[in-house]
Amino acid sequence: MAEEKGTLSIHTENIFPIIKKFLYSDHEIFLRELVSNAVDASQKLKKLASFGECKEEVGDLKVTVSLDENAKTITISDNGIGMTADEIKKYINQIAFSGATEFLEKYKDKGEDKQIIGHFGLGFYSAFMVASKVEIVTKSFREGTEAARWICDGSTEFEISPADKATRGTDIILHVADDSKEFLDKYRLQNILDKYCKFLPVQIEFDAKVVNNPNPIWTKQPSELKDEDYINFYKELYPFTEDPLFWIHLNVDYPFNLTGILYFPKLKGEFEVQKNKIQLYSRQVFITDEVKDVVPEFLMLLHGVIDSPDIPLNVSRSYLQADSNVKKINTYITKKVADKLSELFNNDRKGFEEKWNDIGVFIKYGMISEDKFYEKAKDFCLLKNLKNEFFTVNEYKERIKDSQTDKNQDIVALYSSDPGKQDAYIQSAERKGYDVLLLDTLIDSHFIGLVERKNEKFHLKRVDADTVEKLIDKDEKLESVLSEDQQKSIKEIFEKVISKPNMTVTVESLPVDELPVSLTMPEFMRRMKDMAMGGRT
Ligand code: ADP
Ligand code: MG
Repeated sequence: MAEEKGTLSIHTENIFPIIKKFLYSDHEIFLRELVSNAVDASQKLKKLASFGECKEEVGDLKVTVSLDENAKTITISDNGIGMTADEIKKYINQIAFSGATEFLEKYKDKGEDKQIIGHFGLGFYSAFMVASKVEIVTKSFREGTEAARWICDGSTEFEISPADKATRGTDIILHVADDSKEFLDKYRLQNILDKYCKFLPVQIEFDAKVVNNPNPIWTKQPSELKDEDYINFYKELYPFTEDPLFWIHLNVDYPFNLTGILYFPKLKGEFEVQKNKIQLYSRQVFITDEVKDVVPEFLMLLHGVIDSPDIPLNVSRSYLQADSNVKKINTYITKKVADKLSELFNNDRKGFEEKWNDIGVFIKYGMISEDKFYEKAKDFCLLKNLKNEFFTVNEYKERIKDSQTDKNQDIVALYSSDPGKQDAYIQSAERKGYDVLLLDTLIDSHFIGLVERKNEKFHLKRVDADTVEKLIDKDEKLESVLSEDQQKSIKEIFEKVISKPNMTVTVESLPVDELPVSLTMPEFMRRMKDMAMGGRT
């Protein structure tokens, strides 16, 4: 057999059903795609007008979505650049030939190109996910061009004919298929628009109402904005929530493009897991609230928006994980958050301490889960004592180093995980001149382990652990209220009743209003128990 070389031919007949079925798993996306094409057409006109290429008045650019339940149609209209019959052939008939890419190529040297959304040249065909027939009626902005009508029923046949449209722009008319009747519902469309098109940069109307805010604050410069603007925007995103604690305005051009605002919410109690509170946008089009790979896991507690044209959007999750831009963005966000916290700590320590109850859990969680974050956060992560005073680990080591019994040994700090139950131990320690920290949240048992691993010769002992006995200076013994014999028999009784080999019974000669007997368990035993109980104490 002779050698043969050739090009694989791709038949559109084969590709069309695949596009219809698999282009997007979510059929509601069709509206996002068509509205963003209409927005692109408006932005392109604006741009061409700025180069003096549009002879007629641009006027107010606007996209209108309308629903006709009786005719079973959804129409997306714009007064953007429109298309000539030749342009339809070029941009629409050639599936996957992205007009947007071509436009950017052509005008790339003429400045700003961030306004154009289209990228893949497939968006338009998502119309066939819900429509059995699609009509385009369009008139180009170019002088002396004729309006054109294109009709296609989802097969590879199409029809182009002259149309009698007098005004510039495009109407996309979807004849909704029987299996997609759900979209012939006003509220459904309203919801979809609200989800995907809320911040698109050109005014969008549906049912005689404007559905979007075309100038969301993340697109502005931080210097233009007041605290009030940030808070109002937060309320716009999450109505009926408490004010955020603070926020970070992300704004970077290089080595990737990213803007956005991340808010620190008031965390209620511990980890009331509030996932999916960060929305991911690409050029102001909502993409997803599944930001798992883009935002480090510990920052999933934050709220807000991230907008980046550099995040690949129509690819699989595994691709997203491997994408180098996504990794860079993830690292950048971690760094920005750490820098902001560090700035707050350095500029307003008191304000930072006041916020600690809300942000402490989150910072500890970040330190446990990301080493890079730990390295920055160790300088502003605070330990709180029972007197409501705050210290960094280094400050605390310095503070308690002189109260140690054995000055040559490791530094031991005491903490309480449950002041209510450990009150007697706390009083006893405090009376002997020891400070006691409060480490009582779920995350603290992990956090203590981390602090000990990272700080050589520094240990945190629970105030009721037996090591405390070794730590506390026995010299300052108080006047005995019990005789030696009494103490011995009490100890025996307790040991018999408790009969737990891990427990140490100590009978102390203390004033009457306090416990004469303490039961302690070695620290490592307690931790084993904690672990078995999933970190709960
Ligand atoms: P993309 O947006 O990625 O370019 P689409 O399949 O969404 O791909 O659209 C293909 C092309 O069709 C666009 O690039 C544009 O040239 C043209 N087009 C689609 N909708 C409109 C519209 N409303 N007005 C003018 N041109 C349009
Ligand atoms: Mg498009």
